Amino acid sequence: MLRHQQRQVLRRLARGVASAAGGSGGASGPQARASVPDYALFTQRLAKARSTILENRPLTLAQKILYAHLHDVSGMTSAPVAGESYLKLAPDRVAMQDASAQMAILQFMLSGMRQTAVPTSIHCDHLVEAHEGADRDVARSWQTSREIYEFLQAAAQKYGIAFWRPGSGIIHQLVLENYAAPGTLMLGTDSHTPNAGGLAMLAIGVGGADAVDAMAAIPWELKAPRVLGVHLRGALQPWCSPKDVVLALAGKLSVRGGTGYIIEYFGDGIESLSCTGMATICNMGAEVGATTSVFPYTQSMARYLEATSRAAIAAAAGANADYLGADAQVASDPARFYDEVVEVDLGALEPGYNGPFTPDLHTPRSRMAETVAAEGWTDQVSAALIGSCTNSSYQDLSRAASLARQASERGVRVAEGTEFLVSPGSEQIRATMERDGIQQAFEAIGAKVLANACGPCIGQWNRDTGAPRAPNTIVSSFNRNFRARNDGNPNTLNFLGSPEMVLAAALSGRLSFNPLTDTLTDAQGRPFQLQPPEGRELPASGYTPGRDEYRPLLDHEPTQSIPISPSSTRLQTLQAFAPWDGREFDNTRVLVTVQGKCTTDHISAAGKWLKYKGHLENLARNTLIGAANAALDGKVNEVVNAVGGLEPARGSIPDVATAYKSAGVPWVVIADYNYGEGSAREHAAMQPRFLGCNMVVARSFARIHETNLKKQGVLPLVFARPDEDYFIFTKNPHELVIRTQGVVGLDEREPAVRLLVDR
Ligand code: SF4
Repeated sequence: MLRHQQRQVLRRLARGVASAAGGSGGASGPQARASVPDYALFTQRLAKARSTILENRPLTLAQKILYAHLHDVSGMTSAPVAGESYLKLAPDRVAMQDASAQMAILQFMLSGMRQTAVPTSIHCDHLVEAHEGADRDVARSWQTSREIYEFLQAAAQKYGIAFWRPGSGIIHQLVLENYAAPGTLMLGTDSHTPNAGGLAMLAIGVGGADAVDAMAAIPWELKAPRVLGVHLRGALQPWCSPKDVVLALAGKLSVRGGTGYIIEYFGDGIESLSCTGMATICNMGAEVGATTSVFPYTQSMARYLEATSRAAIAAAAGANADYLGADAQVASDPARFYDEVVEVDLGALEPGYNGPFTPDLHTPRSRMAETVAAEGWTDQVSAALIGSCTNSSYQDLSRAASLARQASERGVRVAEGTEFLVSPGSEQIRATMERDGIQQAFEAIGAKVLANACGPCIGQWNRDTGAPRAPNTIVSSFNRNFRARNDGNPNTLNFLGSPEMVLAAALSGRLSFNPLTDTLTDAQGRPFQLQPPEGRELPASGYTPGRDEYRPLLDHEPTQSIPISPSSTRLQTLQAFAPWDGREFDNTRVLVTVQGKCTTDHISAAGKWLKYKGHLENLARNTLIGAANAALDGKVNEVVNAVGGLEPARGSIPDVATAYKSAGVPWVVIADYNYGEGSAREHAAMQPRFLGCNMVVARSFARIHETNLKKQGVLPLVFARPDEDYFIFTKNPHELVIRTQGVVGLDEREPAVRLLVDR
């Protein structure tokens, strides 16, 4: 017996389409910056929800923002139950990056709408490959991805979407600088969308089909989340940074610990943090599976808004401070009002690294040397990378630069054999960094400054090592470190740390180096110790916007045509999936029983595959190529064909899936815990559906991926007895034939489906 976790999927199956958006929404135009939020509307909606369904009970900040964005509270008769009820919400904004925007736009084109119902932006950041340095890499991306950029630009023009060209910056940094506004609700087609929680915005990572709902003014559904309160006390030690807060928290909670929760921070420790530091913490909330993370409105947020030309928003937010924090009763008795509370003493934290291969394996700095030795990790650091959407703030970069200057003054550069790369998060950050001598401080010790784009963080790294599978260690201030994510090499160990720790590793060339206790050697051969980093929260002379060509394009031309060549290998007009025939699933074969970690990177790889994001058929050739097969001793991307006579008899997962599709044989994926963790990419749901998958049965799912499966018409099921039932499928699963009982006439109050298995 299986518990059936969703209520919408059958409707989607019956409709048989990825996301057929309909209806018409209100007008919105492309914006260079967020306008002042309508706080009067939010507080009015919230007051109505409080008085009608919430019995005026005290609320956390996350709950206040959610209830202020209920699509229609009058249609509700009782308070939502966390973890059970679904909220219908009206987001204020949508942001998309260029890899996920392609499929979202292809789906939005099916809506027939003339423009998006809410302000929307597209950010070209994922398709720039890091190799020769910023300008050359951006120019080359125009050669390799012109077709995609022109498609997205034309769609942006047609539907009134702000278009940020390649080189302008990384989605989350640009959103923080321009679009985040306290107390508003945003959807982003990227899992690190929660970054904007550093500006008290509820920002949630979703698949493209969800974004299309918001863009088409269709109420967006979210299972009412629980709220995990993180109580921050005290202040960070000089060598510690906000990154260390979230690295330690990830170690405590694990990659599954935040599933079903919004993480809300509170306590006196918040006041010591910069807005951008809080954004870093929210960014990596994605690594524990949280729906999103959020901080209450603070003075540092007001300063950041003013510094980024949004003083009017700061003034309005200041005047609505009551709305922008938890109710007073929550603050005075958090254990009563948060579903869980975690205590963090900022003063007791020490810097650390998380990794390799998973972002929740935390090692405090003081134990790193012994752990490196005990685990047999390669100590020599082959590359050190700072920046990305996670750690690109002025504060991050100025603190790291202070260490670089200490080294330069003693004639020290990055260690021999260590490459040092910097990925600025936006053109504004890059230009300000250059004006204030930060870039020069990095270059003086041997840095290469890459484009304002994702680059190595998403596998867009043309790395010249000469040994593409050699074991090696890299350190980065990024947020993810799944195997092969950065350079395609499964033997690269990536350790996540603060920019300051990464810089110290670059100078020493050693993972085990502890700047708090160990010494470097200056040009005269004398030992010296780095002093704690120092930086500024905001630039003293303000930000400089940088080059004009990186300002957003804001044209709106509803008659604009959108180019998709029928012979294109990278773009393909989307066809609706065949609708569900209304019958129980029958004659279904097990394609693979996945063993262990299976992220969306494993289901739909990035790197060289990113170029096919707008072409479902071509991209489907990478389906599940990173998955380990529990029935073949963990062999990756290898399965036995269940159907006699079909070729290949044994082969890669996409080859066998394609054979099933051609023969009209439906198939199922059996999955382990937290299936689909990682990035929000909906391709990881669309590709299996395209190849004929009708169900995924897992021990548990990551939230976004489960939603994406429903949106794409694949039935996600969770084993009622995950520790027993999963093992039925680990021995010769290709011999099994599966039927369902209970899909037809599913009881939405007690959804359960039985799997009948014949051998
Ligand atoms: Fe880009 Fe990496 Fe940030 Fe994702 S996590 S948006 S790939 S920089």
